[in-house]
Amino acid sequence: MIVTIDGPAGAGKSSVAKRLADRLGYDFLDTGAMYRVVALAGLRSGIDWDDADAVAQLVRSVDIRFEDPRILLNGEDVSGAIRANETTVAVRHVADHPDVRQHLVSLQRQFAVGRNLVTEGRDQGTLVFPGAACKFFLNASAQERARRRVADLRVRGQEVPFEDILRQQQRRDDEDRQRPLGGLIMAADALQIDTDGISLDRVVQRLEQIVRRRVEQLAGEPTADSTDNQS
Ligand code: C5P
Repeated sequence: MIVTIDGPAGAGKSSVAKRLADRLGYDFLDTGAMYRVVALAGLRSGIDWDDADAVAQLVRSVDIRFEDPRILLNGEDVSGAIRANETTVAVRHVADHPDVRQHLVSLQRQFAVGRNLVTEGRDQGTLVFPGAACKFFLNASAQERARRRVADLRVRGQEVPFEDILRQQQRRDDEDRQRPLGGLIMAADALQIDTDGISLDRVVQRLEQIVRRRVEQLAGEPTADSTDNQS
């Protein structure tokens, strides 16, 4: 079964998705981390972001692996480096590139084969897994999301002023929403959850209840075989 969690930056998707996956015993996929790894690889190689061919080649040249909770770029643990502010600012260059998206979407679908999965990003319930059994859209106010991001960077030893983060976030929100392929939109069959002022634990509990109910519901539905037999 596939559970998708989409939403804007800072809505709490990663923490919620990870904890939800742990509680359900499902695997977890952080698709934003994949875009970040490609951006980091580009920054390190000093790529010219305006060179579309070079960016298309870049995504094919990187080996991205998840070794929970670490993410590896060509075998190196880059879990911390991909969260640095420089990477966050550069990620749009790869997220906007159609070849990069196509390649990463294909990796995401391969990863899901044969797994129970909680996957989070921007386009998981719309473009990547439109048939997912359970879809959520996490949201929070811009102020709350920026506060979380400042706190997250502080824990990682980076001090970035709140106003700068708010401005960057606004730009990232606009770019994410306007992206023609894989843009941030809520799937018509997704449930929207506002995380403002609610602890992430409460959010996880609520999502877990909904997923478990959905699993029971699906288990009770007649299969194609049993429907055929009745006719
Ligand atoms: O979720 P996170 O902030 O780590 O994502 C980093 C960036 O990657 C986002 O700003 C977005 O532009 C891009 N992204 C995307 N599609 C996804 C996940 C992330 O375009 N499925």
